[in-house]
Amino acid sequence: MIAILKPGTTAQQTAHLLTWLKHMNLDVHVSEGKEFTILGLIGDTSRVDIELLSSLEIVESVRRVSEPFKQANRKFHPTDSIISCGNTKIGGGHFAMIAGPCSVESEEQIIEVATAVKASGAQILRGGAFKPRTSPYAFQGLKDEGIRLLLEAKKVTGMPIITEIMNVRSLDLFQEVDVIQVGARNMQNFDLLQELGKTNKPILLKRGLANTLQELLMSAEYIMSEGNEHIILCERGIRTYETYTRNTLDLSAIPVLHELSHLPVVIDPSHATGRASLVPSMALAATAAGADGIMVEVHNNPACALCDGGQSLTPVQFDSLCKQVQQVREVIR
Ligand code: PEP
Ligand code: MN
Repeated sequence: MIAILKPGTTAQQTAHLLTWLKHMNLDVHVSEGKEFTILGLIGDTSRVDIELLSSLEIVESVRRVSEPFKQANRKFHPTDSIISCGNTKIGGGHFAMIAGPCSVESEEQIIEVATAVKASGAQILRGGAFKPRTSPYAFQGLKDEGIRLLLEAKKVTGMPIITEIMNVRSLDLFQEVDVIQVGARNMQNFDLLQELGKTNKPILLKRGLANTLQELLMSAEYIMSEGNEHIILCERGIRTYETYTRNTLDLSAIPVLHELSHLPVVIDPSHATGRASLVPSMALAATAAGADGIMVEVHNNPACALCDGGQSLTPVQFDSLCKQVQQVREVIR
């Protein structure tokens, strides 16, 4: 439920109303705009008497929000959220290219890829240290050593880094990581989401393989309801009956999420398509559709990659993609 307060409402009147609402066991998210203050009532609003609330002198209007997500909802946070990721920003007109290998494999590999993608214009370096693999016999990532190597690459290039967390138990290892990724398979790991909500790290939250956009936003809500508002949403393809591509990229997720939420939306065309040859066109389409960033897998030697070589661009291919993305951005600006 949303209550809009009249212009001129004093801080004391607002505080008084907040106390009253909190007595009904509601949390209240206060968003102060230039003219209006908007209160987002969180919790069981079924006991709130809308007529009574609307009749208060300081209340302009009250609306029930049909969507169950509140803090991620654009209705009471009308402006785009801008998420700071180290020395770069995503959202509200700030666009970021995130690039790097699927997995960190060695110091030489990560430094070489990081240096190359930075030279092409990438703002954030990606690389998996903890890998959620379908087979327990597949390469599982270098784990803490992988994070150490990413931090090394961060030192050498100055790029902020993003890497995936799979388990709350490894949270301590992520202290110097700039953005924590929650992978598709963990989108509804609610314990993990709540723990991440207690940190102030930016979280890139990937849509699950078979989850609706509302479920994605409810997962964002899990993090935000614990206090962490720094969320970036990521569409990475969903499972459909099509088998030619690894997943089916839901490009409409971009305008839908932008309509429903103030959180930035990043597209991952690598996991969406599973094929390097399809990555550039989907990245360009996502840029044209208004994505706030693109996350692409890049490997210095895709044929020998320990994970996802088939969908990884070479540094040269990534360089040409960056130039094309730039051109599309200029056209849509
Ligand atoms: C990844 O980005 O490394 C990854 C495993 O992606 P997803 O969770 O989308 O499969
Ligand atoms: Mn991958």
